[in-house]
Amino acid sequence: MKIFNTASKKIETFNPIGDEVKIYTCGPTVYNYQHIGNYASYVYWDLLVRALKANGYKVKRVLNLTDVGHLVSDGDSGEDKLEKGAAREGKSVYEVAEFYGKDFLENFRALELTEPQVIAKATDYIEQDMRAVDEMTKNGFTYETEDGVYYDTSKFEHYADFARLDLKGLIAGARVDFSDEKRNVADFAVWKFIKPGEKHAMRWDYLDRPGYPGWHLECSTIIHEELGEPIDIHTGGIDHVPIHHTNEIAQSYALSGRPLAKYWLHCNFITIDGEKISKSLGNVYLLSDLAEKGFSPMDFKMWVLQGHYQGTRNFTFDSLEAAKNRRLNWRNRIALSYQHDIASDDGVYERVLGAVSENLNSAEAFAIIDGSTLSFADWKKIDALFGLKLIADSPKLSEEGQALLNERTKAREQKDWAKSDEIRDKLLGMGIVVRDTADGAIWEYEK
Ligand SMILES: [Zn+2]
Repeated sequence: MKIFNTASKKIETFNPIGDEVKIYTCGPTVYNYQHIGNYASYVYWDLLVRALKANGYKVKRVLNLTDVGHLVSDGDSGEDKLEKGAAREGKSVYEVAEFYGKDFLENFRALELTEPQVIAKATDYIEQDMRAVDEMTKNGFTYETEDGVYYDTSKFEHYADFARLDLKGLIAGARVDFSDEKRNVADFAVWKFIKPGEKHAMRWDYLDRPGYPGWHLECSTIIHEELGEPIDIHTGGIDHVPIHHTNEIAQSYALSGRPLAKYWLHCNFITIDGEKISKSLGNVYLLSDLAEKGFSPMDFKMWVLQGHYQGTRNFTFDSLEAAKNRRLNWRNRIALSYQHDIASDDGVYERVLGAVSENLNSAEAFAIIDGSTLSFADWKKIDALFGLKLIADSPKLSEEGQALLNERTKAREQKDWAKSDEIRDKLLGMGIVVRDTADGAIWEYEK
């Protein structure tokens, strides 16, 4: 299997560290609904997990839920997202995190995304965060200010490597709001102190003062606790590269003296009708908005998998409609392959898996599927490879539908046309269209 490694900026042959492929995915901050752009990234990483499994690897995956308030900006300034959500809704920060965390997981499951072995809530790792800061301090990587405990980026000589950061440029650009307390421009808080009188609902005592973890810390801590460094694959959005993942790498090095991950995969953004997803443009679509327009989570997943995780994608409802129709077409082909015991073209599943194994090229795999004849057995494998519920979502012809179809065949043999028509209408009510051909009746799903 080959994947593009952000660390080397090259396509590399995947070579696991141990028997089990350890994967970590940066999860959502649960202060609001996740939009379809967020969910697209989890669809890509689901394909990664499914492709690894189809290639015979065992996978252990951890996903975090950021339910500790952190700041709106990537840096150490700005408003706290969870506090903002709580103020907006007149709820406590804990209620906000609980509500949106649950909503996220419901949608995650509706998209048939492979369940990670560990779903780690940041608030469950606060003690471990403190121990991690202790360890980094012991190893000489931090310093304390009035404001918190900071990571001294000058102590990690490879700090700028991962994101090819221009630290000199950063210094020039940051001169205006460069805090006197920071020793280096890229230094960041691993722990923040809460000043007397400062409103911050989530707080824990550490170093004899109330405070809370810096927002990059939880990923390093959770990886340290649940997987151990180095892990095989770390995934996230392309926007995580310059700060969040750079800081994760620095923290994990200070914590363990080891690299964090062997491979880094980053997905690109999607735009909506050519525009960035933003509240002001009113295009922050949720899966529930798509459902209102008649599109299922699987139609959306089909749309995502038609493209590539590294490309910028433009979402339109026309393209979603096309994805829906393609999925319907595949389901009809499955029905026919089942009824007529159709044989596959030679090596077609291997070619499909080969395309997916080539840096997750599902678009190419879909083109192979469109251009090939497939047996029901191969469709089953394809359904498992993409998790599109092609078979499970179908009306259950094996039971009631099949019985009706048999009954209709018998009625036609007895020239009982009224009964035959009656059964045909009944099947139509179940979304099954029956067509009579020279070879007998075949059925397909209603368009
Ligand atoms: Zn992270």
